Formats: sequence, C-alpha cells, structure tokens
Amino acid sequence: MAIQILENVALAPMTTMRVGGDARFFARVGGIEELSEAVLWAQRKGLPIFILGGGANTLVSQDGFVGLVIKIEMKGISYDGNRVTVEAGEWWDDVVCDIVAHDLWGVENLSLIPGTVGGAVVQNIGAYGAEICNTIFSVEALDIEKMQIKTFLQAKCEFGYRESIFKKNKNLVVLRVTLELKNDGVPNTEYEDVKKYFENKNIEAPSLQEIREAIVAIRTAKMPAPPLGTAGSFFKNPVVDMTTYETLKKEFPEIKAYMQGDNTVKLSAAWLIDHVGGWRGYRKGDAGVHEKQALILVNYGNASAEEMLSLAHEIKNNIKEKTNVTLEEEVVML
Ligand SMILES: Cc1cc2nc3c(=O)[nH]c(=O)nc-3n(C[C@H](O)[C@H](O)[C@H](O)COP(=O)(O)OP(=O)(O)OC[C@H]3O[C@@H](n4cnc5c(N)ncnc54)[C@H](O)[C@@H]3O)c2cc1C
Repeated sequence: MAIQILENVALAPMTTMRVGGDARFFARVGGIEELSEAVLWAQRKGLPIFILGGGANTLVSQDGFVGLVIKIEMKGISYDGNRVTVEAGEWWDDVVCDIVAHDLWGVENLSLIPGTVGGAVVQNIGAYGAEICNTIFSVEALDIEKMQIKTFLQAKCEFGYRESIFKKNKNLVVLRVTLELKNDGVPNTEYEDVKKYFENKNIEAPSLQEIREAIVAIRTAKMPAPPLGTAGSFFKNPVVDMTTYETLKKEFPEIKAYMQGDNTVKLSAAWLIDHVGGWRGYRKGDAGVHEKQALILVNYGNASAEEMLSLAHEIKNNIKEKTNVTLEEEVVML
C-alpha cells in the first residue's frame, strides 16, 4: 500500500479549537488515488470515515474517533481566463490572495477565513456580505459509496446558509472546485464595518487589493488571534418566521435581525448570546466566550472538549429558555 495508515493520532493539534482525543486510524491524502486507497482500506475493515480539512470548524470529542480520519492535502491551482480550478487541500486564504493578485474579483470579502478549499465549499463560507457559493462554477467530488467521481454544477450543490449537498451527504468528498470570477468587479462594501473602514480612510472606490486589505484589517482587529483555540462562529444565526420575530421584538426592542425577503428573519446569534444571555466575556476555567465576539467560544489553553461542549449547551439552553429560539451549531462535531 502506498499510503501510510497511522494509529492513535492526536487530532487536537489538527483543529483550531485544539481539544479532543485521538483518531484510531489516520491518513494524509495528496491525490485521488491515495484517497481511494484510504477509503477502500476503511471500508474493508468496516470502519467509519471522517474527512478532515484544516480543522477550523471541527470540534473533536474527548473520545476522539474510532474510525479512519482522512486529511485532505491535495494541492494545485490553475487559471483559465476568469475560471480558477483549485484542489480541495489548498488553504483558502492563500487561494484568495492568489486570485486577488491575478486581478480577479469575487472572493476578496472572504479573505482570511481559515481552513481548506474543500471545507469552504462544504460549509459554504460567508463573511462581509459575500458567500463562496456565488463564485462557484462547479465542484468535483468523489462519491465514496459508489467510488465514482461526480461533477456538480453550482445549481446542483444545494447551497444554503452554511449548507451544501456536500455537508448533507457524507459520502461526497470534495476533490476540486472551479470558481468563476469577474475581470471587472464592483467593490462589495455594503457591509457596515467595511463601509466604515473606507469612510474613515476617505476612499470612495477601493481597488480589489484595498478591499482584501480592509477585510484582513477588520478581521484581525476583531477575531481572536492565536494562541486562543476557536472554531469561529460556534452557532448559526437562527432563522425564524415573522410572527416569532415580532413577538421577540416586543420583548427585546433592540434585537439585531436581518429580513430575508421570504417572510423569514435571520436573528443575530451573537446579539442573543450577548444581550439576552449576557455571555460575552464569560469564562469558566479555560472555556469561555470571546470578549469581543459573543458567537466565538474560546479554549483559552487547556479546556477539554467536554468543557467546551458543556459551555455550548449551557448557552443554548439559556437562549432557548429566554427566547424560545433554538441555536444550532455551525461547528461540526466529531
Ligand atoms: C478564527 C476563525 C474565523 C472563522 N471565520 C469564518 C467566517 O467568517 N465565515 C465562515 O463561514 N466560517 C468561518 N470560520 C469557520 C471555518 O473557517 C470554515 O468553516 C472553514 O471553511 C472550515 O474549513 P476546514 O477545511 O478547516 O474544515 P474542517 O473543520 O476540517 O471540516 C469542516 C467540515 O467539512 C468537512 N470537509 C472538510 N473538507 C472536506 C472535503 N474535501 N470533502 C468533504 N468534506 C470535507 C469535514 O468533514 C467537516 O464536516 C472561522 C473559523 C475560525 C477558527
């Protein structure tokens, strides 16, 4: 066998949350052949499989994983006009940097989001008024049940808010993605923080590079910098119907919410956790809620997976009790 299957490998250092136990079996794959080999090896042994990218949105349990963790390390980026094809194991922000350097618009607002290209597609990453799905032309994936490579055009990817067909169907492993970008893009500066950034600098029509710089600066100022352990937003912003929103608005007139245009309303989970729950800056041992971003749970050093999960449950129960709104985890639990 060409690939190496390792045993009892610590997963915490491979995730940004830095908690949790070992993978019973572990393999790094740099290509489709290695991936197929690893999958067939696990299938022969009847072991479950977990696909790991950059570990920036995964919380590993204290017990670790009994099956085979396959770490996606396929690399490569190629340009064909305004279409860019990127392998799933590329680091997303390196790709954004490269695309901006090629003067192509569309992903600049998604600068500095940690993780791989595969993870970005699975989670349909979004930030500062942009979502990766809006630039995707197609996604190539391996169906590990049928051992077949399939190509999904954008419309078939079932993208939604932090959702995709690849997230729903665990048999699909993203191999590569083709992005369709714009040669003459329009700056996407509608998002409040971005608008303010350019107003303060007196820049009316920022260049592509300036937008990337703005996003990097805004994110760096807001987000916890290493060595804190986080997985980004822990919960999704809950979407509720108009009646629920109006009832909540009576009780919490300041509630932060975004109309969806389909009679539903997206509530700011950060606002609920901060203003309804009062959790921002809370800390119990090494598990806490970030002092600037209430949606970010932080492992300040040696928190265990259980401590992080129990904090998440406490927050969830508290918000449910006070608002009857159920927070759903954005972070993937392993
Ligand atoms: C500080 C910080 C800031 C963040 N900010 C944002 C943000 O602004 N917006 C946002 O949307 N997210 C944000 N995140 C979350 C995270 O960056 C994204 O979800 C990212 O896309 C995760 O990629 P990953 O490769 O690390 O995925 P992992 O954590 O490795 O995996 C996530 C899920 O995707 C699956 N997966 C990974 N690769 C593949 C593949 N090739 N094929 C099939 N399945 C796969 C895994 O099985 C798992 O279910 C942030 C995280 C951190 C730590």
